[in-house]
Amino acid sequence: STQLLWFRNDLRSKDNQALSAAVASGKAVLAVYTLCSKQWQQHDLAPIQADLILRRLTQLREDLAALNIPLLVLELEGYQQVHECLLSLCQQYQITEVYCHYQYELNEQRRDQAVEQALSQQAIGFHRYHGECIVRPGQVLTKSGENFKVFTPFRKAWLASLSEQSYSPLGSPKAIDKSLLNEQLLSLLNHPQTINCNYPRVDSSAWNCQDQQIIQQLRDFSASKANDYHDLRDMPALNATSKLSAYLALGMLSARQCLARIYLDHAEAIASQQGGAFTWLSEIIWREFYRHLMAVNPQLCKGSAYLTWTESVSWQDDEHLLKAWQQGKTGYPIVDAAMLQLKQTGWMHNRLRMVVASFLTKDLLLSWRDGERWFMQHLIDGDFASNNGGWQWAASTGTDAQPYFRIFNPTTQAQRFDPDGEFVRAWLPELANIPGKHVHTPHTWANKHGVSLNYPLPVVDHAVQRKQALLLFEQAKNKA
Ligand code: FAD
Repeated sequence: STQLLWFRNDLRSKDNQALSAAVASGKAVLAVYTLCSKQWQQHDLAPIQADLILRRLTQLREDLAALNIPLLVLELEGYQQVHECLLSLCQQYQITEVYCHYQYELNEQRRDQAVEQALSQQAIGFHRYHGECIVRPGQVLTKSGENFKVFTPFRKAWLASLSEQSYSPLGSPKAIDKSLLNEQLLSLLNHPQTINCNYPRVDSSAWNCQDQQIIQQLRDFSASKANDYHDLRDMPALNATSKLSAYLALGMLSARQCLARIYLDHAEAIASQQGGAFTWLSEIIWREFYRHLMAVNPQLCKGSAYLTWTESVSWQDDEHLLKAWQQGKTGYPIVDAAMLQLKQTGWMHNRLRMVVASFLTKDLLLSWRDGERWFMQHLIDGDFASNNGGWQWAASTGTDAQPYFRIFNPTTQAQRFDPDGEFVRAWLPELANIPGKHVHTPHTWANKHGVSLNYPLPVVDHAVQRKQALLLFEQAKNKA
């Protein structure tokens, strides 16, 4: 008999529990990836991320072939077709067991329930492993057994719950004995089909898709940048963060591999909970926090705000302002430069994600859901839990939210985190001649020097909008 390994958001051959378990069975293994482009569309998957997934699948097929595991990529309409497809695959290849990792989003959980039911009716085993997080959702609880609502105590409990296993990622398993493969599997292994997909794609070649390169990137970051991470991570002009998010989002790299590497190089900083390496680990813990939150709050997957009373905030509906934000034409240089970085590269620096999210919600008074969607449509690292968590944090509708009365001033944020205006000038050539920090207030500088600028005037006045945002929140609070 044959075992089926079902790939989803875990596109890796190292530290892959499902793969290791399937291989440990001592039987032949067939791998499958079910590609549901309609679902991708419904989830606003960015074409640049689709491109990275497809490139990675080609690479993964090679990595698996070296283990004598053929990989089939099946394109289906939507999740409704998945259980039937897997069932017919099981019949076609005499499969007795199916292995995969848990996914915690609502649609994915429903899909898996249907699969579990269909397989159990045919007495086929369904084995799932927790591979997306270092500590699995449901295992980090308060003393009274509740889920945490804020990050800092979550982090403390998360750190206390680590075991030796948490620091020990699995390697790639040994190759399967080729003699176990029947004619059908051998033919798949020797004649892989081309991977077809009609989903729109945007070139992602600036991002790695090979294990070796990704792991090297993690090592280089840990060796040469982690120490300074605490001090430099907020400066968008510097290349001071790991840029591993796309790989973590797609499971091309596991969070456990990150923990193991940072611990290996910085055991002391981690133990003393101080310094750059620990700050970086905290970001990995943020990722876990948002995943745990999503797993226990299915309403987040339905588009609801975490803080129920904030559902009454009367967000405005203004296509013109939304377009100005999306296209980087708000007249606030830091916001515009960040939005161009996103559009042109598929990635945006974390400090700027906070700035533009605050600007959309508190200055333009538009719903965080508009921003959440735009980000998903353009990010190479689009990740439902982290994106939703980040947006709700910035909009003050989420857990651990910055209180609604604390509102970012985009100009002072820019002066603080891009003090010489280097980042802004790199993305807005029309402001390239404005020196230093004056680039953050270009019209003031231009008026003073009698220069005319080909750059929009601010679409809103921050001081006015700030008051309006407070009013909208106060009104919502009074309704509650
Ligand atoms: P590093 O600073 O090197 O951090 C290491 C890793 O930790 C990241 O790769 C990421 O996996 C994780 N991480 C870092 N910061 C956060 C955070 N605040 N929340 C959760 N995980 C974090 N991250 C995504 O991966 N996908 C998203 O769709 C996403 N959307 C966001 C939307 C908003 C509005 C905000 C404020 C943040 C969002 N983030 C998202 C979090 C963060 O901005 C990115 O993870 C980070 O910028 C990626 O760059 P990096 O890999 O260099 O991060």
